[in-house]
Amino acid sequence: MLVKPKKYLGQHFLKDLTIAKNITEALQNTTCDYILEIGPGMGVLTNFLLKSTKKLVLIEIDSDSVAYLEHNFKNDLSDKLTIIEADFLKMDLKEQFNHQFVVIGNFPYNISSQILFKTLEYKEQIPELVGMFQKEVAERICAKPNSKTFGILSVLIQAYYQAEYLFTVDEHVFNPPPKVKSGVLRLTKKSEPQIVNYKLLLQVVKTAFNQRRKKLRNAIKIYNLPNSEPTIEEYLEKRAEQLSVEDFIYLTNFIEENKKIR
Ligand code: SAH
Repeated sequence: MLVKPKKYLGQHFLKDLTIAKNITEALQNTTCDYILEIGPGMGVLTNFLLKSTKKLVLIEIDSDSVAYLEHNFKNDLSDKLTIIEADFLKMDLKEQFNHQFVVIGNFPYNISSQILFKTLEYKEQIPELVGMFQKEVAERICAKPNSKTFGILSVLIQAYYQAEYLFTVDEHVFNPPPKVKSGVLRLTKKSEPQIVNYKLLLQVVKTAFNQRRKKLRNAIKIYNLPNSEPTIEEYLEKRAEQLSVEDFIYLTNFIEENKKIR
């Protein structure tokens, strides 16, 4: 029996198999043995993912979907497939994985930002993520400075990952169709992260963008920066969206350094 879509879980089941195949083929990582799929629903992506040699872990919150998956994929269960009924946002992923894993999913739109924040928490273990998002969110994540869409998630994600907007997906290929278009993204971990302190970067970026119309000097005055460096002085005259990802990294590392000196 098919799963009846539940609105409060953000369930929009993808009907188009070519698109499902294209999404799964967007995963490029070859070294990692594990794939984590978030919100598999009735397994339209799972079907294609099982063709690869990797081990697959599914995390699905909806018991109807889990029952459906357990029934339909029972031959794969003992071998390469694990199905976990849980809320992804509440999971301790360190308990589940003591190694690297790549992440994939047609994400429930209502929690897609939280999925990304959680990815950042576990970035040491996640070399790659391919995901379907609401189109606007996907564009925001890839946005460049000096645009209205450039924001907290653009900086944080791009500090650690190369973000590529792959393709747009129409409403009508889902059951039920969502109200908005979707966009598929690939995030690939950068090899040499230059950030000393992620928590501080998170704080600086949030503080800066929460008052995005103010000059940085006013927005981040809580850090009491000494006016010693020309580069920093230059940043402080700008607004958050005028700084590049590299500028934010430089600024954060500068603040971190100054904490140590004082
Ligand atoms: N991948 C499927 C379903 C996409 S809809 C497809 O492409 O057809 C989003 C899925 O995420 C639904 O199955 C929903 O039950 C699941 N989901 C919603 N919130 C979740 C959460 N917090 N943790 C895990 N899964 C969740």
